[in-house]
Amino acid sequence: MRYAGAVDVGVQPVAELVALVNDWGTLPREVGARAAPARLGLGPGPGPVAVADRLHAVFAAPDDAERARLISDMLAETRVRPVAGAAAWAVDDPASALLASAALALREQLAADPGRLGVCADDRCADVYVDVSPGGHRRFCSTTCQTRSRVAAFRRRRRES
Ligand SMILES: [Zn+2]
Repeated sequence: MRYAGAVDVGVQPVAELVALVNDWGTLPREVGARAAPARLGLGPGPGPVAVADRLHAVFAAPDDAERARLISDMLAETRVRPVAGAAAWAVDDPASALLASAALALREQLAADPGRLGVCADDRCADVYVDVSPGGHRRFCSTTCQTRSRVAAFRRRRRES
């Protein structure tokens, strides 16, 4: 049953989570030297920066076991629960909705396709990504970072030789 005041929580598409983390996360913005975007349409709660920083930790975790632990903590903390008789979720506190929705999405992603979350390997970038490549060997958030990193490695090798 639903409580009065409970808020429905949708499971966010993982691509939107990646955008949330990279737009708002402290580390992605500092390392990438970008300002925070205007806060639009994100509703109440601890704020997108706080949520983005917690999500970033999930992507940056050393393995999927640690990721699962962080996600469980978030789910417990938001007290998100399934709505009986519907394929839906709810929280009592609207301020928890963003974190709950993100945690649900990450849990689904981890269960469906483990080992696919990561943080860009480029020195000047801390953006996160979901690896959808067939081989699952992605290390960079974008081809821009991949190219920059390769060029830097090439220059380094040339200097050393
Ligand atoms: Zn990158």
